[in-house]
Amino acid sequence: MTRIFAVTNQKGGVGKTTTCVNLAASLVATKRKVLLVDMDPQGHATLGSGVDKKQLEYSVYDLLMGEATVEQIRKTTDPASYDLLPANVDLAGAEVGLINESQRERKLANALEGIKKDYDFILIDCPPSLNLLTINALTAARGVLVPVQCEYYALEGLTSLLDTLKRVTETVNPGLEVSGILRTMYDSRNSLTQDVSGQLIEYFGDQVLDTVIPRNVRLAEAPSHGLPVLCYDAKSKGSLAYLALAGEILRRNSL
Ligand code: ATP
Ligand code: MG
Repeated sequence: MTRIFAVTNQKGGVGKTTTCVNLAASLVATKRKVLLVDMDPQGHATLGSGVDKKQLEYSVYDLLMGEATVEQIRKTTDPASYDLLPANVDLAGAEVGLINESQRERKLANALEGIKKDYDFILIDCPPSLNLLTINALTAARGVLVPVQCEYYALEGLTSLLDTLKRVTETVNPGLEVSGILRTMYDSRNSLTQDVSGQLIEYFGDQVLDTVIPRNVRLAEAPSHGLPVLCYDAKSKGSLAYLALAGEILRRNSL
């Protein structure tokens, strides 16, 4: 069965895209077939996968608007070998473009229906807002992965995210669940990191993943080379952490 995860947090810069690109590559390293869907008009998952977002004939925007098929927009990344549905700034027009459409929150779910059997995992990189693009991701997904940077305001936004998740489960996607809260850019020597981490565990219990992603300069450098860190510096702490995350996700899903 295909596992579809939306990687989401409306707070910006918490490591959503870094998690998508590197988890995708790490799952491929465990011989799983993976599709990464870029649902952010910033197109960072596209760039970080080594695909030029300015040279796209079709993108996720065309998919949502019903103007292209998955087959027409899908790219296979090199050398990481996961598939990608790329996006660029055009996607910012989707909210307006879909305004008069019925079932506009189901566009991504419907588009993935025919091809999801081709994959073990589909990861969806969300933009930093709770807009129609994020709702489309949450409607298509079975699980939600929430990267959280352990700093002062980290918990504040989680309440509105959980409200949105509740609304989506009560309306369009009753099967949706929180698959994991992932602590990113973790610095174990920092007492604030430890405090916030402790609070996360107190509130969310074992929804907090055991794996933590450390702050690691190789993770920050890799996207400028269009590579997941596994293909840039396989022995780095960041690379090992994302491999461990892939392992934990496989275990938690009994795969
Ligand atoms: P946005 O909300 O804008 O989509 P995001 O949540 O997708 O942001 P990223 O783009 O993944 O966040 O990360 C934000 C920045 O932090 C990037 O420059 C990225 O390279 C860097 N970064 C992410 N994770 C780490 C890490 N563990 N160690 C060091 N740098 C990191
Ligand atoms: Mg991002």
